[in-house]
Order: sequence, then structure tokens, then C-alpha cells
Amino acid sequence: GVVFLSSYPEWKFKSLRPLPKHTANRLRDIQYLERPLSSLKITRTSGDRGEIMQISGEHFLEQSIQLRGYGWRIHYLSNLSSISKSVHLAMTITTVAALVLLLLFLLMRERKLKQIADQEARNVLAVREVNKQLQAEIIERERTEKHLRATQRELIQAGKLAALGRMSAAIAHELNQPLTAIRTFVASCRIFVEREQRDSVVENLGYISKLTERMASITGQLKKFARKSNGKQERIDIVPVVEGTIVFVDPQFEIEGISLHKQLPDLQTAIVLGDTAHLEQVMSNLIHNAIDAMKDSDQKDLHIRVISDANTVIIEVQDSGKGIPDAALDYLFDPFFTTKDIGSGLGLGLSITYGIVKDMEGTIDASNRDGGGACFTIRLPLAEKNFTHRENVK
Ligand code: ADP
Repeated sequence: GVVFLSSYPEWKFKSLRPLPKHTANRLRDIQYLERPLSSLKITRTSGDRGEIMQISGEHFLEQSIQLRGYGWRIHYLSNLSSISKSVHLAMTITTVAALVLLLLFLLMRERKLKQIADQEARNVLAVREVNKQLQAEIIERERTEKHLRATQRELIQAGKLAALGRMSAAIAHELNQPLTAIRTFVASCRIFVEREQRDSVVENLGYISKLTERMASITGQLKKFARKSNGKQERIDIVPVVEGTIVFVDPQFEIEGISLHKQLPDLQTAIVLGDTAHLEQVMSNLIHNAIDAMKDSDQKDLHIRVISDANTVIIEVQDSGKGIPDAALDYLFDPFFTTKDIGSGLGLGLSITYGIVKDMEGTIDASNRDGGGACFTIRLPLAEKNFTHRENVK
């Protein structure tokens, strides 16, 4: 129990614990004669890894081994203060490293967030730019649409005036007839006045009045037909529109020898939303095409049918003409498609008709009839649903 070798010189020749008196004496006699044998002040506590010794205020972790055959024991004492220093250092380094890593992580996160924010800002800018472009496109489209509608109205008007031009001969003939008759009635009136045949004068005046009524109705139709559309949608009863157009082309039917077969429902059963002038134009286009198609036919029959069901009104215009060439069926509604001679047709009638029907949210189809001739079918949505629909034939 006596230290004879130590890295701490002051521990040399000190015992590890107080020695019994006789042992101390014996040792002094044998080996340590000149030195007083004092013992080190050691307090021991048990730690996880071995004994913790406190010697002169310093703490050591003790590990020891007995050297057999020598009677020596080697004690290896690790100074705990240096270990705790190392631990502190390691802890400090670890903390600093962790702080640096945390800082790096935060920096990287910050950069990533900034990148995302930048990207989002760029996206917002791009979306704003696209929005701007879209708005500009919408404005441009609206302008083009307005322009198109105005052009369409102009075209319809031009088409109508062209139709009026084509019909002028028939109209002049139609107006001339009553005029001649009126002239004759006036001449005979004079004679009746001279003869004082009052009753005959009154009778003749009645005829003249009827004839002027007929003339007024023709000019009235002309005025109505030439009227320019105001582009407003209104409730239209199809029947009077069809009747009006028929009255208007009637003189031509007579000249061409065409038999008209019409089948119309009751008034107020076929109401659609649209523009009267436009619908008149549609009917006039179809009827004039039919008249043209039957020019060389022996039998000239024109069927005009209007049928209304619960939701739709169907207008059919059938003729007994030459029919539509198969190759033309696909192009009929294209602007400027015509099979007529130069000067006779512009090829705008059906394309205008198609545009008007589409504006009224309807459809138009063309087909050839089995017995020969063409059939045009228009379907228009009813403005008011017919709950008690029936097919009224006039
Ligand atoms: P246009 O009458 O000025 O030729 P449209 O657009 O009205 O112009 O008609 C285009 C073409 O469709 C006509 O040239 C004709 O070939 C054909 N077509 C139209 N209606 C009939 C019909 N009822 N029978 C036969 N062909 C028709």
C-alpha cells in the first residue's frame, strides 16, 4: 500500500491508507528509514466505470491491476478535470458545429424560400401578362364580332335590295294590273256620271277602292321587306312572317306557274326569338332559290310547311326542281358558293340564311327529295314552350 513510483513526486513514499503501527514500523526498518511514512488523503466514491478517487482536492478515475509475483499493484489514475475539459471542448465543438449546421440549414432554407418567392412572383407576373393578353383578345373578339354583325346586317340589306331588284319586273307587273283596271274603272265612271247611273258609279268606286287596297298592301310589303334590321331580338310569330313573304312573292308564282302548297299552324303557336326582317330574309332566300331551281321543271310545286311541337318549330321549304348536286351539298352554306350564271347569283343567300338561323340558336339542313327536288329544313327553338302542341293545318 505504499507508493514507490509515481508521476506525482509528492505522492512518492506515501501510503494509500493509514498503515497499522507495526506495519509502519516494519517498513521503516526495512526500506524507508529516512522518511516519515505518512498516508495520502484519499476519499473514494464508486462511479459507473470504476472508483473515483479524490486526492488533494483533485478527482481521478482509478483503474488498477495486481502484478502477480512482484507484490505490486499498478494504479492508473486519469485526471477527471482533463477529461471534463475534453468533454467540455467536445461539447463546445459539437455545439458550435451544430450551430454552424443550423445556420447553414437556415441560410439554405432562406435561399430556397427566396427562390420559391421569386418563382411565385415571376408566375404571378406571367399570369398577369397572360390575363392582359386574354383581355385584349376578348376586346378584339368583341370588336370583330360587332363588326361581323354589322357586316352581316349590311349583307342582308344588300341581299334584300338585290332580291327587290330581281323582283322589280314582277312587282311592276303586279302594280300595273290594278292601275290599268283603275284607269278603265275611272273611264267607265265618267260615262256612268254622264248617264247619271249613280249606282254603277258607286259600284265602280268600290272596285277602285279594293284595287287601291291591294296596291297599298303590295307597297306595304315592299316597305316592310326593304326595312333595315335594328339588330334587336324580339318575339316573332312565324306564321305572319311566312304569310307576308308569300304574299310578296305571289306575283312571281303566277308568272312562273308555280303551285303553292302551304301548311301553317294557328297564330301564336310558333313564337321564336329573333328579328322579323332577318326571318323574312331567310324565307325569301329559300323561296327564291326554289323558284330558280324549278325554272326548267314541267311540274312546279312548292311546299311550305311550318310545324311546331313542344320545344321546336320546324320550317320546311320543298320544291320539285332539279335538286342539289351531290357535290354541292357540302358547300351550299359557304359564302359565294353558287351554281348559277354570273350575274344571276352571288352565292350569299344560303350563307346569310345559315348565319341568321345560327344566331337564333337553330339549325338548317338541305337534302334532296326521293321524288326529285330539294328540301330545306329549319329548326328553331320556341320562345315559349307549347304544352298543348298540335299540328294545325290551314
Ligand atoms: P345563289 O342563289 O346566289 O347561288 P345561295 O347561297 O342562295 O346563292 O345558293 C347557293 C347554291 O345552292 C345555289 O347556287 C344552288 O346551286 C344551290 N341551291 C340553293 N337552293 C337550291 C334548291 N332549292 N334547289 C337546288 N339547288 C339549290
